[in-house]
Amino acid sequence: MECLRKDDLHADGLTWTEVPEPDVGHGEVKIKVLAASVCGTDKSIYLSTQNPAIIEEMQRYLDRPEAYRPIIIGHEFCGIVEEVGEDAEALQALGLRSDIIVEKGDYVTAEMHIPCGHCALCRTGNAHICVNVRVKGVHLDGCYAQYVVVPRQNVILLGKRGDLSQIPPRVGAFLDALGNAVHTIQVAEVGGKSVAILGLGPLGLMATLLARLYGATRIYVTERVDVEHRFELARAFGADLCFDVAHSAAELYREVRRREKGAEGVDVVLEMSGSPSAYRDAFELVRPGGTVVLLGIPKEPVLFDFANGVVWKGVTIKGVFGRRMFETWETMLKLLRSDRLGLTEKLSWLVAPRAYRLGEYEEAFQTLLAGHAMKLIFTPNPGDFAG
Ligand SMILES: [Zn+2]
Ligand SMILES: [Zn+2]
Repeated sequence: MECLRKDDLHADGLTWTEVPEPDVGHGEVKIKVLAASVCGTDKSIYLSTQNPAIIEEMQRYLDRPEAYRPIIIGHEFCGIVEEVGEDAEALQALGLRSDIIVEKGDYVTAEMHIPCGHCALCRTGNAHICVNVRVKGVHLDGCYAQYVVVPRQNVILLGKRGDLSQIPPRVGAFLDALGNAVHTIQVAEVGGKSVAILGLGPLGLMATLLARLYGATRIYVTERVDVEHRFELARAFGADLCFDVAHSAAELYREVRRREKGAEGVDVVLEMSGSPSAYRDAFELVRPGGTVVLLGIPKEPVLFDFANGVVWKGVTIKGVFGRRMFETWETMLKLLRSDRLGLTEKLSWLVAPRAYRLGEYEEAFQTLLAGHAMKLIFTPNPGDFAG
C-alpha cells in the first residue's frame, strides 16, 4: 500500500513509499482510510530539523536513538472498516446490539492515543494523560496510508454500514482536532461567561464556534497573522470582538476593561496559540478569580510573572491534553449529530476545497506552511470518496 513515512528524523521532509498492508491482530480493527487531515504535529514532523522537541518525542520509547525505525505518520482520519480481529466472535457471544459494535463496512474514526490500560491514571478514568501513552503517527504507524490498524476500543463509530450522511468525511477526517477544542470547552465551562480566545488557528476557530454553542455571553478573539480571513471566519463562528495583536494588545486590554466593568477582566481565557506574548495577554485579561485554560504549546519555556498573573489574582489554570476517553468523543458525536448553528457546515469551511493524493504531500505541506489553508485532507484511496 501507499504511505507517507518519516525515514530520517534529522532531515526535513517525508518519504512517499510502498509497504505491505498491516496485519490485523487480536482485538484490532483494520480501517481503509477515506480521508486524513494534517495538524501542527504533522507539520513539526515534516520540518523536524526545526522542531527538536518532536524528534525527542518520537524517540521517547526507544532504548537508544539509533533504534528508530521509519514510522508512517498522521493521526487524524476517518475510514471504512475493512477487517476486524479474531475477537469478533467473542463479542458476538456477548449478544451486544449491532449498532454499538464496530463491524466490517462501518464508517469510523479512532482515538490515536493508545493508553497502557494499567497505570494509575488509566485505572482512574484519566487515560488521556496515561504516563505510557503511545500515539499512532508519532510512536507507532499512523494513518497517512491506505490502511491503518487500531485497537478495537479506540475505534469510534460514525455511521453503520458505511453511512457517511451524518458526518461528512471532510469533517470526519479531523475529529481528533475538534476533540481537542471540545475538551477545552468542557474544561472551561464557558456557559453564561465572558470568554477571550487567544489564537485563531483551526483550534481557536473551532473553540470560538463551540464557545458560542455552549452559551458564552461575549467572545473576544485575537490573532496576529492572516487576520482578515481569520476574523471573517471567527465572526461567522460567533466571535463578538476581534483584535489584531501583531503590534500591540493595548486596544484589546482597553476594550475588555471598558466592557467587563466591575470584574476588570473576562471570566475565562482560552490560550490556543502557544505564542509567548499570548501568555502575558491571558493573565492580563482574566478577571480575579477567573480561569485560564491552556491548550497552545509554546516552542520554548516562557518566563512568567506568577505573583501578579496568578497568585494575587486567585486565578485557576487548567492544562488540556488530548481528548477524554471517551467522554469527549461521546459529547462531540452528540454535537455533530444535533448540528446546531450549522456546526458541520461551518467546520467544513476550515478545509481546503481540493483533496490531495499522498504522492502530492510536498505541495500539500507547502500550502499549509505558506498559510494558504487552515486544514487540508489527503485521500489515500481516491475513487471511494471524492474529497
Ligand atoms: Zn494532532
Ligand atoms: Zn496508562
